[in-house]
Amino acid sequence: MRRTIIAGNWKMNGTIGETESLIRGLLAGKSDNPKATVMVAPPYTALFPASKLLEGSHIALGAQDMSEHEVGAYTAEISAQMLLTVGVSYVILGHSERRQYHAETDSLVNAKTKRALDAGLTPVVCIGETLEQREAGKTEAVVGAQVDGTLKGFTPDQLAKIVIAYEPVWAIGTGKTATPEMAEAVHVFVRRKLAALDSKAAETMPILYGGSMKAANASGLLGQPNIDGGLVGGASLKADEFIGIINAV
Ligand code: PEP
Repeated sequence: MRRTIIAGNWKMNGTIGETESLIRGLLAGKSDNPKATVMVAPPYTALFPASKLLEGSHIALGAQDMSEHEVGAYTAEISAQMLLTVGVSYVILGHSERRQYHAETDSLVNAKTKRALDAGLTPVVCIGETLEQREAGKTEAVVGAQVDGTLKGFTPDQLAKIVIAYEPVWAIGTGKTATPEMAEAVHVFVRRKLAALDSKAAETMPILYGGSMKAANASGLLGQPNIDGGLVGGASLKADEFIGIINAV
């Protein structure tokens, strides 16, 4: 039985006050679904106040990125240890916006994932193809290479602690969603790739879908047998909309 996870990536949105009011909105609404683990990832500057509000609640705290280094002269970087001290338990790694605007590669994401696992954080490793790659019929080649590159060298025990998020880049923030069937086909392919690494991990690893998921389309996507939740951007910034997704599980 795989866990279902609904995760909100709040990106560079929210002062401390705005983050607190969004969290208050989630806690005041029906955001608790026994069938789902709920996680939100506010900006770094709001993590500590967010963790105070979320303490003892059903909502876990995530970060949007972290350094591959443990400590030292890496100006502006945030370490796994720092995240742990502010109550973070999940970390999103290799988001397409990090890949696109900060030239993050699979090998860097692999190093970050290793560091996160060593620290006891749950990595949410993002993969996904661009529109050009999809139109050129390269989706499986691209996504397969990302699985191989980001998960390289992990033991079955480590693989068992990783979450994957399949996020077609053309669907992120565009309002274009993969149909449930399109997303499911890639999730099945990813699970087959995982089976080549470890058959148990392939069975148990949650594979989330991300890309313009909202309350109105969530049940179709989440109803697919290999879609184990969602990584949600825009729609997670509105408490009602995010609660709608949580309750679509
Ligand atoms: C994301 O950035 O992870 C994402 C899925 O964004 P959106 O839901 O806005 O497409």
